[in-house]
Amino acid sequence: AAKEVGGNSYQFFSTEMAARAQAKLGIESSLRRAFNHQEFFLVYQPQFDLRTRKISGFEALLRWAHPTEGTIGPSRFIPVAEETGLIIPLGAWVLQTACRQAMAWRKAGFPRMRMAVNISARQFARPDFIDLVEGVLKETGLEPELLEIELTETTVMESIEEAITTLTDLKIRKVNLAIDDFGTGYSSLIYLKHFPFDRIKIAQEFVRNIPGDPEDRAIVEAILVMGRSLKLAVIAEGVEKKEQLDFLTKRHCHEMQGYYFGRPACAGEIPGRIISGGLH
Ligand code: C2E
Ligand code: MG
Ligand code: MG
Ligand code: MG
Repeated sequence: AAKEVGGNSYQFFSTEMAARAQAKLGIESSLRRAFNHQEFFLVYQPQFDLRTRKISGFEALLRWAHPTEGTIGPSRFIPVAEETGLIIPLGAWVLQTACRQAMAWRKAGFPRMRMAVNISARQFARPDFIDLVEGVLKETGLEPELLEIELTETTVMESIEEAITTLTDLKIRKVNLAIDDFGTGYSSLIYLKHFPFDRIKIAQEFVRNIPGDPEDRAIVEAILVMGRSLKLAVIAEGVEKKEQLDFLTKRHCHEMQGYYFGRPACAGEIPGRIISGGLH
């Protein structure tokens, strides 16, 4: 009987696997086609500094203008792009496009604002990652102080020694370093001490339920205290409501990003939403 079950489940498994492989191949080839047809674009979400009441930076977020399905968000295609390696040319395009945009705004007379770019683990692990960053900065003329690289805890914990070397190389070049989705990965505090990060981004998961949820409130407070003691800047992600803003402001969290301040928007819409670095 065991043999029979084994046989059956093998059969089932292999059909399932074949179907999944087929689906993946489908997504993979359509992603490659999309890249070649320039269907990807970036949107920019403002990061607000409550001390100056001005925009301190933007985060570049990737979108896919699918010919029939409409705009597709990154959570639906980044994992496949990482698996297939397409993230390497795609990620390089993101970095270049975001830096070019930041430079275009500088040239148009906008105040100094950072441009934050998300970097995937596979991109970060490449031995030529520093060359890519250096090349893009040189080509675009953007000041390295205005570029911020966002990495998750998982990305930097994958290979600690290499990560320290790469982060240090970036820091020597004056590029800003931020930990994205802080608190949702390994959350090993040891790297905060040894890694040259400038900024922590409090994960949306914790911000979502403040001030109502006592656990999330405690976590956010602890991250803020720790950030201050370690002299790291802290920005809260996913701020949607006035109550969240008030809670964070009272606890000296001055930088925020979220729908309350502005949804991610196309480059063309940004100037109309800015008055001398403020928002309207
Ligand atoms: P992330 O880096 O943590 O980006 C923040 C996400 O939260 C974005 O989702 C943003 O649109 C969303 N968001 C911002 N404010 C609010 C808010 O107030 N409420 C809610 N509910 N959501 C808010 P998005 O654009 O779908 O991106 C999802 C993730 O995909 C990003 O999370 C990032 O990890 C990844 N990603 C985006 N662009 C890139 C990219 O160019 N390269 C790589 N490697 N990953 C990217
Ligand atoms: Mg991010
Ligand atoms: Mg995040
Ligand atoms: Mg995320």
